[in-house]
Amino acid sequence: LRGEFIIRGVEHFLTPLVPVAVSSVYGGKPLPARMALATPDTARSILAVVKDLENIGFVLKISDLYRSAAMQDQAHQDYLQGRRKAYSPPAGASMHEAGRAMDIDLSSIGVPLARFWEIASAHGFKPVIDGPDSTRSEAWHFDCRGSHDLVYRYVAEGKAGVSMAPYTQMAVGAILACAGSSNRVPDSGVAWLQAALIRLGFDPGRIDGVWGSRTRAALRDAGFPRGEQLPFYVDLIGKLLKQRFISEYQ
Ligand SMILES: [Zn+2]
Repeated sequence: LRGEFIIRGVEHFLTPLVPVAVSSVYGGKPLPARMALATPDTARSILAVVKDLENIGFVLKISDLYRSAAMQDQAHQDYLQGRRKAYSPPAGASMHEAGRAMDIDLSSIGVPLARFWEIASAHGFKPVIDGPDSTRSEAWHFDCRGSHDLVYRYVAEGKAGVSMAPYTQMAVGAILACAGSSNRVPDSGVAWLQAALIRLGFDPGRIDGVWGSRTRAALRDAGFPRGEQLPFYVDLIGKLLKQRFISEYQ
């Protein structure tokens, strides 16, 4: 679905996905090309983690990296129908769709999970569970949140209501940044702008894709003139994002 609903100039400011060569759990082969994609900063972080493990004699094996919306939907259906044991969320709410999550083979890390957390954290990866217990579901999942952590914190501070969890809003914003569209909102262009405003430190409220008074107020706070059309703001905000978070775009 990538690109299908891209509108209004957002395509100039999407986070690219770059190939990343890593070992997989699949018969010792490299991860298949359609999955072996990540944002530039995530790709560098993965390779840094791989190198740290290599230096102590282990080969990190990855089972999942990028998933398109269609692949995410398939993973969710597989879970619902019992073909997959581990929970996989519906399309639109997974950091895998943003090229910012990896699932690793825990038997390949060679060190206790707590030690791996330190290695991963040193390169910008955050676990999705709250303690290094390798028997827990999702112990294998790590996110490279990048600037989208600012969305998580904004929502966690209560600034975007409680109807959508901080992690979900972060994922929606990260998917918008990468794919330019989200199935969770009525207008992806507006939602893209809202997530971008939060990452730049402004206060548009929830990422709901609705062109409301709080979004307009955030644009005024950012110093932009009133009364312009969406593409005008997309262009300005997109350029600011690329300046502020340059490592996420190249
Ligand atoms: Zn995962």
